[in-house]
Amino acid sequence: MASKIYAYPYHLCAPMKFVSDRYQRARLKFAALVFAVLYNFSQAHAQDVVFDRGDTLRGALSPVRTCYDVNHYDLWLRIDTSYQSIKGKNTISFSATTDFQDMQVDLFKNMVVATITFENQPVQFKREFNSMLLHLPRVLSKGEHATLEIEYFGKPRVAKNPPWDGGFIWTTSENNQPWIAVSCQGIGASLWWPCKDHLSDEPDSMDIHCQVPQGLVCVSNGQDRGITFDKEGIKTFNWHVSYPINNYNVSINIGDYVHMHDVYQDETGDTLSIDYYVIRGNEQKATEHFKQVKPMLACYEKFLGKYPFPNDGYALVQTPYLGMEHQGAIAYGNKFRTGYLGSDRSGQQLKFDYIIIHETGHEWWGNSVTAGDIADMWIHESFCTYSEAIYVECLHGYDTAMTYVNALKKTVQNNTSIMGIYGVNHEGHYDMYVKGMLFLNTLRHVINNDELWWNTIKTLSDSTFKHSVTNYNEIVEFFEEKTKMPVAPLFEQYVKHPELPVLEYSSKKAKNGTTLRMRWASNVENFAMPIKLILDGTSVQVNVNSKWSRVTLPSSYKFDQLTSYYTLKKVKNKRRMING
Ligand SMILES: [Zn+2]
Repeated sequence: MASKIYAYPYHLCAPMKFVSDRYQRARLKFAALVFAVLYNFSQAHAQDVVFDRGDTLRGALSPVRTCYDVNHYDLWLRIDTSYQSIKGKNTISFSATTDFQDMQVDLFKNMVVATITFENQPVQFKREFNSMLLHLPRVLSKGEHATLEIEYFGKPRVAKNPPWDGGFIWTTSENNQPWIAVSCQGIGASLWWPCKDHLSDEPDSMDIHCQVPQGLVCVSNGQDRGITFDKEGIKTFNWHVSYPINNYNVSINIGDYVHMHDVYQDETGDTLSIDYYVIRGNEQKATEHFKQVKPMLACYEKFLGKYPFPNDGYALVQTPYLGMEHQGAIAYGNKFRTGYLGSDRSGQQLKFDYIIIHETGHEWWGNSVTAGDIADMWIHESFCTYSEAIYVECLHGYDTAMTYVNALKKTVQNNTSIMGIYGVNHEGHYDMYVKGMLFLNTLRHVINNDELWWNTIKTLSDSTFKHSVTNYNEIVEFFEEKTKMPVAPLFEQYVKHPELPVLEYSSKKAKNGTTLRMRWASNVENFAMPIKLILDGTSVQVNVNSKWSRVTLPSSYKFDQLTSYYTLKKVKNKRRMING
């Protein structure tokens, strides 16, 4: 998702969820689970958050969800623009991971379920919050493949502030034609189509069929499989996603779209299909503005590996909202302007389009490398925001990239951790964007070996975790193994704790220069992290841990805080500190 500046997206960091009396019983029932979750979570995350049964249904991997693995979704939709309603059918193909008869499928409670069918028999189900508990007509055996059909209709939730507060957007384009889009990251795809709405389970592939009123075009994810007409002459746009896809990445865009096709060719001669869908009248602007796409793809491919979804191609789709990383059909709403709606937040007058760069970065981070729980959304956003820095370094060099990385430091709050709470669909703090980027930049300079650093990043995105679902522990283990360095405490401090590590220091004039004493004060026991000092214009790495240590330096020295992110605190130069 695009980062939002100067205001908190309330769904990301609402301090407390209101729980009515009606849900008190359910709350008590699940209090134990919530306590367990909170207890296991870092003490530093002690924020006043209350979760209800609905959060658990949405966020937990309960047995009625782990009992099946989704293989394929075949989603049919008819869109009624005048009533702002949809009618749909989703055929869910899945494999049983254990013997079971009861399973959970999610769909928002405001949507009406017409029928649920299994092997031509109706399925009994009950609805609770935004989920449905299905009782199948027979027991399924482990390893069995089966399909389930769900027909439904209704007026889906309207987005209040897309993409941060999602739902449908019903509007008109400049040429007065209907313009409809949907974004649902965080809130969930189940607001508009029935699915197993948990990040951990992506279908291996998906088909989306979209029927829209005459004169309009429906653009969805992946490959364009053409237009078909049924007996009544109804026009259907067919799309196919040939890779695993996050539910929230599935999207439809309806409007008076014009299709522009291009091809990207890499150094080895391999080609990638590029498709742009813009509202009629924007073709010229788009042709000029989207010239930055190919150099960007070349940079990302160099540092992150090949575009992860080559068979589906790369696409930008003009949307009435700012942007979203919809796989193979990136939502683009930056109005063909540079920066973030016209302004370069790094203050360097850089001319690239922030939305193109950021949302494309998500094709590697989020769409290919996916967090299995939204609590680990930082994996998507921190690495993706760091991709912006990679892009700046590619095009403008290291120094400009360092300025870019540090430019938004003052916007970081450091009062809630960037990791959320597992099992209740809870995201960490919005700091996951800028703080995440600053942390990864710190890690690069701690490792102090660019060849190793870039190899580690590329192996992560292009090999070890490509097209896979992962989590905090796996990422940390990967970094420790790949770099052969004890970086786990760094991840713990920056990701799990809100506070930054504090570099306490004191200095004293000595005969041959200055004696500098330093130690780390942090939440993590025995925290150790090297820092960089600039000595007469030369950068020198110095090891610091949680015990006071001293080093004698020439009289002119400077802490290099562009290459690492921490709080610097000068303390009084007392004798007891020497051994303290
Ligand atoms: Zn993002």
